[in-house]
Amino acid sequence: MTEKIFCPRFLADHMNGDLARWLRIMGFDCLYPENTLNDKAILEICEKDRRILLTRDKELHSLAIRRGLKSILIRSNTLIEKFREIYSIVNLNKYLDFLKPRCTICNSELKITNPNQLKEETDPPIYRDIKKRHNKIFYCDKCRKIYWEGSHWNNIMETLEEIKNHGKNF
Ligand SMILES: [Zn+2]
Repeated sequence: MTEKIFCPRFLADHMNGDLARWLRIMGFDCLYPENTLNDKAILEICEKDRRILLTRDKELHSLAIRRGLKSILIRSNTLIEKFREIYSIVNLNKYLDFLKPRCTICNSELKITNPNQLKEETDPPIYRDIKKRHNKIFYCDKCRKIYWEGSHWNNIMETLEEIKNHGKNF
């Protein structure tokens, strides 16, 4: 029998855009609503989708807890320390094997393809070079953003390793 994994989903409020971006790269479903969305609407989304709220707002955090929702109050300022706070409550590493990276812009799961498979509409000149140099790229069906393993990628991987290693301490 295969065990069904319930993977946590998140909603990062407008002060936690960096967390939203990195959770998406790791593959977690993380909403990052416009900062015009009010507290009531944020809590309703968390309740409806069973999302864990990530907020720096103490008042919103306690409103969420009182409502029986899961919420993590983020106090730190650096990305790694913020992740430490998340890991102290949810061990994200448990889920990583089951996840595909998501688009940092729109939260959709990324597809993997050979760059030569790209359609013309996603094929401005900048991608000619990518086609020459890479045989694997990630792309977003929804917003058409393309991700490839350039030099920036190595920095991303290093940061991710650092984040994951933090998780091992729990
Ligand atoms: Zn996208």
